[in-house]
Amino acid sequence: MRPFTWLTPETTEEAVALLRAHGEGARVIAGGQTLLLAMKERLVGPSHLVSLARITDLAGITTEPDGALVVGAATTYAALTRAELPGWQRRLSEVAGDLADRPVRNRGTIGGALCAADPRFDMPAFAVGVDAELRISGAAGERALPAHEFLVDAGRTALGQDEILTAVVLPPLPTWDVVVFEKFRHRVFDAAIASAVCALRREDHGVPASLRITVAGATPTPTVVLVDAAADGAAAAESAVAAVRLDSSDEATRYRRELVHTLVRRVVDRAHAQQGSV
Ligand SMILES: Cc1cc2nc3c(=O)[nH]c(=O)nc-3n(C[C@H](O)[C@H](O)[C@H](O)COP(=O)(O)OP(=O)(O)OC[C@H]3O[C@@H](n4cnc5c(N)ncnc54)[C@H](O)[C@@H]3O)c2cc1C
Repeated sequence: MRPFTWLTPETTEEAVALLRAHGEGARVIAGGQTLLLAMKERLVGPSHLVSLARITDLAGITTEPDGALVVGAATTYAALTRAELPGWQRRLSEVAGDLADRPVRNRGTIGGALCAADPRFDMPAFAVGVDAELRISGAAGERALPAHEFLVDAGRTALGQDEILTAVVLPPLPTWDVVVFEKFRHRVFDAAIASAVCALRREDHGVPASLRITVAGATPTPTVVLVDAAADGAAAAESAVAAVRLDSSDEATRYRRELVHTLVRRVVDRAHAQQGSV
């Protein structure tokens, strides 16, 4: 690992100013679970690490008056797992509690996973799947982006050099009636090869009004597929496979295509089966 200077700002504004002052050599560090590995392998060699550890505003969960759930970017998986969340929003706790292992969950953060933009990670899939909004602070001020616009490519986000992700905002409870997440991994501590999210909203009389399917892992960024709200798992799986364009006939691609098909069929059938329960 190359030498670096460790900086410990106490506010987001201070952190942004440090990123700006040290330019391209400066990197934010949250839990370090991805960044430190990349530094050890010399894939990156920042001159300055701007730690989020002392910025208390960036960790924790609050609910806005409309029911939107604001999750600070530096909230760890362990804290998410312990949170008691209402309705479908509790899927966030379940997803956080079922990834990696305890040491990674104790340090890794939701914001770090989104900013790493690794297609195998669960939080990018979940955030796009429920149509979360990401709040960003930078030298030019604050802005917000839907998660699918934040994730630009594998390993690349819409963040500018002097910007920090401050919060992940899950929409209010009435946005969805049911949210189902499924992933496939070889071993329990492996990251996913493919994952799928189904978010379903019904009209008042129980008729599906909106079915949003998100496929991740098999594509560089999570892909949203909107299908006929009444589609069953098999029909939705066909639409999803066509949308993610896994066209090549090589074995690895055929394997991924099969995984996507199976995961989408499962999440959609499970969502329909839940019939109003969350
Ligand atoms: C052994 C192991 C197993 C794992 N298994 C899984 C798994 O099963 N599923 C899964 O989803 N993930 C898995 N992961 C990945 C894990 O989710 C990520 O490493 C972790 O969430 C990254 O968060 P962090 O806080 O440690 O980020 P860091 O490593 O600190 O940062 C990651 C990147 O994001 C940037 N960054 C961090 N926070 C911010 C911010 N707020 N604003 C701007 N930039 C920021 C950093 O500059 C860096 O580029 C695994 C990791 C390990 C080491």
